[in-house]
Amino acid sequence: MTTYTPKQRPEHPFISIVIPCYNEEESLPHLYERLTEVLDQVGEKYEIILANDGSRDNTGLVINDLVDKDARIRGVHLSRNFGHQLCLTAGLDHARGDVIVMMDADLQDPPELVNEMLAKWREGADVVYAQREKREGETFFKKITAAAFYRFMRFLTKIDLPVDTGDFRLIDRVALDAVLSLRESNRFLRGMFVWVGFRQEPVKYVRQARIAGETHYPLRKMVRFAFDAITSFSWVPLQFAVWLGLAAATFSFFYGINVVSTAMQGNTVPGWASTVVTVLFLGSVQLITIGLLGEYLGRVFDEVKGRPLYVVREVAERESENDSPEDKSQA
Ligand code: UDP
Ligand code: MG
Repeated sequence: MTTYTPKQRPEHPFISIVIPCYNEEESLPHLYERLTEVLDQVGEKYEIILANDGSRDNTGLVINDLVDKDARIRGVHLSRNFGHQLCLTAGLDHARGDVIVMMDADLQDPPELVNEMLAKWREGADVVYAQREKREGETFFKKITAAAFYRFMRFLTKIDLPVDTGDFRLIDRVALDAVLSLRESNRFLRGMFVWVGFRQEPVKYVRQARIAGETHYPLRKMVRFAFDAITSFSWVPLQFAVWLGLAAATFSFFYGINVVSTAMQGNTVPGWASTVVTVLFLGSVQLITIGLLGEYLGRVFDEVKGRPLYVVREVAERESENDSPEDKSQA
């Protein structure tokens, strides 16, 4: 008989909070106050990792001051601006916790939610993601584009990306290690957290307005972000040419018959029919072959990403007498 050993979760988990910061000198003091207040109430040991994404203001100094003042704060300063997703990855790489929470520096993600997330984790969830019920203090344009984007992504990709979910989430160490084993450079973290699987649970919240400063996601960066998201999880754009080519070929076939029969009735300029038929034929052939190249490119891209083929949550087996407890790995 197989014995399923439930994964042992520490009763008192060490919590890592990971926060990417780019030009957040004004937000950080507010963040520190509110976050430490919430975490002190939670009552578990914790660390706060402030990952500085090559800020141009005094964010670096503010972080180092906090490190001097409070031993639970750790600063990770990147050498330049690498962008939100890579900065977040750097912070996660440095986290030592049993559970890890990632959130933004601008208090748009309410720290109070950590309590609710921890409760879900204790009930067995591996990834607890915060799902926005409402967004406050953001432009109509941002809300509309964000809503459209999440729905479009669901249509394009095979992964079951929850709508209205950002990077704010709590992750068990096991799930985090799985995500960190994906080392692709164009990272769409919220997709990667879905890709690794495990038990995912939502908690609902109302997204607040920024406490200070302004968004670092202008339209240009949002578009780039959307492209990273789509290209790292979807082949649909690459396959598009094949479908277009097949549609063009079908159309050309029937239109070609029409062209030839018109030409046979003799009331056309000589050479017209052969020119039109050749152009239609070659156009379709080109589209289909571009699509074929796309199919290969997609496969090459998947290999290059070098993701693990699968992620094992746990292997259930009976302990045999020969096994020493040390060689039981959790990976
Ligand atoms: N951020 C970062 N590097 C960047 C841009 C943003 O680390 O190049 C951080 C930023 O400090 C914040 C988080 O990523 O903590 C989210 O950015 P922002 O609040 O500007 O995005 P929005 O909430 O408007 O989508
Ligand atoms: Mg923000």
